[in-house]
This record gives sequence, C-alpha cells and structure tokens, in this order.
Amino acid sequence: MLPQAIEDLSEKFQVFPGIGKRSSQKLALDLLELDIQKYQELLGSLQQVRQEISFCKTCGFFSSKKQSNSICEICQDETRNSYQLCILEKPTDVLTIEKSQIFRGKYHVLTNLISPLDNIFAENTTISQLVASRIPSLLQKNNDLEVIIFFRAGFAAEATTAYIKDLLQEKGLLKNLKITKLAQGLPLYYNPDTLDQATMIQALEDRREI
Ligand SMILES: [Zn+2]
Repeated sequence: MLPQAIEDLSEKFQVFPGIGKRSSQKLALDLLELDIQKYQELLGSLQQVRQEISFCKTCGFFSSKKQSNSICEICQDETRNSYQLCILEKPTDVLTIEKSQIFRGKYHVLTNLISPLDNIFAENTTISQLVASRIPSLLQKNNDLEVIIFFRAGFAAEATTAYIKDLLQEKGLLKNLKITKLAQGLPLYYNPDTLDQATMIQALEDRREI
C-alpha cells in the first residue's frame, strides 16, 4: 500500500533492538512529517556521529576524535581514582555504573566476553591490552589495585573471569591486586541496561572478593 521507498526505510529501522515492524513504519512516516530543515539537521547528525565518534584508546569507552588523542572524558578526568578498575563488556555498560554515581574509579571495556561456542575467543577481546599495559600502568601509580568485574551473568562471564585471573597469575600480577565482583543477589541474567540506581549502588557496595 505504501510506496516502496517508505517500506525500504521502515525495514532498515528494524536493525535496532526492540524496534518491530509497526514502530519502524511509524519512524519512517514520522521522518516524512519533518520539515526540511529538521530533516537536514538529522541527516547531518547521523553522518557526524559516525565520523566523529570512536573508542577511547585507553579504556574503550566512547570518545570523540576531536578530543586529545581520542582519549575519553572519563580517562582525562583527574578527579577519578586510579586504584579501582572496573572491567565491563560493552561501552554502554559504563553508563550503567555511572548511573550509580558512587563509582569514581576507571574503566576497561573488553568489547566481547569469551564464548568459544559463539566463536569468540580472547583475541576478540581487549584482554591482552588489559593485562599487558592497562593494569601494569595503574599498578605503577598505586600499590594496591582493585579490579571489579561487571559482566552479565552467564557462562561467558565465568569463562572470561577465569581466563583473566589465570593470565594475571601467569604474569605475576595477581599478588598486587584484588579481584572483586558485584554482589550476589542480582538476577542470573540481569540486564545492566535496565538496572535502577538503588540496585546498582547496593550491588557495588556489596561486592566480594573472588
Ligand atoms: Zn577512556
């Protein structure tokens, strides 16, 4: 019924999680309602975000290519402590921890968790960078470093944690740091994206050594 171009656009919106057939068609039709200036601004932003945004060379969080050396704001923030390093899977997980507003340490994004069944191995993560340079450089600044693991619960989380621990042991780094993970009591397959602030604070405060 609708012109093919609208159907095509509508189908493209379906790449986003949670956007089904109905909402993607609505988005496509809403776009047509925009006046030409708003439409051009939107197009400009779509291109700009792709060209300008990259990942921080130090921690893997989002950064702007305009920022010095593509280092993100969190890494540049000198008020943050360097004796706590939170390891997470995705750059968006950083936002979940930030929501708690009580964590003032640093982050390291792994990009993926090890999951051999899905053909994801250590080389598809930033674990080698973590162990070879990130942790050693933080240990130079502090005598004791706390590495906080924050992964979605599941087999990949267990496999990745065990791998990191073994590697740190192998490199003789384990004796200088403690590894903790967030409190028990979070649902097994909790979704960090929807964790509320109170749960996040509780989980951070109740973390335990592993
Ligand atoms: Zn960073």
